[in-house]
Amino acid sequence: MAGIYVHVPFCRCKCAYCDFYSLARPDKSGDYAAALRSEYAQRRHELADLPVETVYFGGGTPSMLPPDMLTALAAMTITADTVEATIEVNPEDVTAANARAWRRAGFNRVSMGVQSLDDDALRYLRRRHSAADALAALATLRRAGFDNISADLIYGLPAQTPAAFADSLCSLLDAGIEHLSAYILSYEPGTLMDLRRKRGECAEADDDTITQMYADLCRTAADAAMEHYEISNFALPGRRSRHNSAYWTGTPYLGLGPGAHSLGADGRRRYQEPDLRGYIASPADTLTDDPETADEMLDDIIMVSLRRTEGLDLTVLAPADAAALESRALPRLADGSLCRAGSRLFIPENKWLLTDSVIRDLMT
Ligand code: SF4
Repeated sequence: MAGIYVHVPFCRCKCAYCDFYSLARPDKSGDYAAALRSEYAQRRHELADLPVETVYFGGGTPSMLPPDMLTALAAMTITADTVEATIEVNPEDVTAANARAWRRAGFNRVSMGVQSLDDDALRYLRRRHSAADALAALATLRRAGFDNISADLIYGLPAQTPAAFADSLCSLLDAGIEHLSAYILSYEPGTLMDLRRKRGECAEADDDTITQMYADLCRTAADAAMEHYEISNFALPGRRSRHNSAYWTGTPYLGLGPGAHSLGADGRRRYQEPDLRGYIASPADTLTDDPETADEMLDDIIMVSLRRTEGLDLTVLAPADAAALESRALPRLADGSLCRAGSRLFIPENKWLLTDSVIRDLMT
């Protein structure tokens, strides 16, 4: 099996925390769509005729594209083999007409950027919708026939209390979603949040607050019958993101559009430079090889595996690599931040906040 990822590099303006590649140039969407069709024609062979089971339109803001353009791009990428086709949307784009058009185009899963259900927090994050808009958008998507909806939430905002986060979380789960992605706010270089922090205009949430929010998140999601299957992802039974799960298990995928990464059926990694102008001029010229050394490949496997409930199966590694890793893992096994079950190493849910440091210790 294989996947296709389409990066749509347009947003109306930049949210305060976001470092994804996107530009406020929707006037370029026609040229972008033409370049995307050209890139697909040139590169579809990289999947070697594997059945495309998952398609994901991310960004950026795919829901900003005109519905007829999205329909044409969906028709290019979604096939009879596709079991999951996701579109990322923002609440302000969810009208009844748009939602019906996305469904008719073949998308059967929506990932919506909610981020918070607190209007003050939404304004602070420079989102362009209110809490009421997000809840209304969820209802509109349901009426259009979407029965597989994911929502993103951010926690650990400056001055956010655990109670305020719990309010957003509970309201969102009460509204009814099949999948939740919940991320701790990170201060990425070049973002407005990073600038605010450097200017001393905001203080990062402290460890105790994050620990409390994380514990509330795990408990509340479990009460809502969601399984915590990856460090930031929760799903009702059978509703894990197939597309992301395929990434994490090394399934080939074709990434189209500026800023997209790919893993070919031949194991080659490539990426498109985040350069809309160059991409429109010639997608072949902005495509760059991204070779990995054996150690980098091993580190990648360690990183993505230990972020998942299933953890890392040592039998997928070469015996010498597995033995060296087991030796590096001993201190973490001793202090309980890593566990072992048969041939699997995994981080228990109550230690997932330590994931970055555990992974650093285990990398080559
Ligand atoms: S969070 Fe989403 S909508 Fe906001 S700037 Fe980033 S990609 Fe665009």
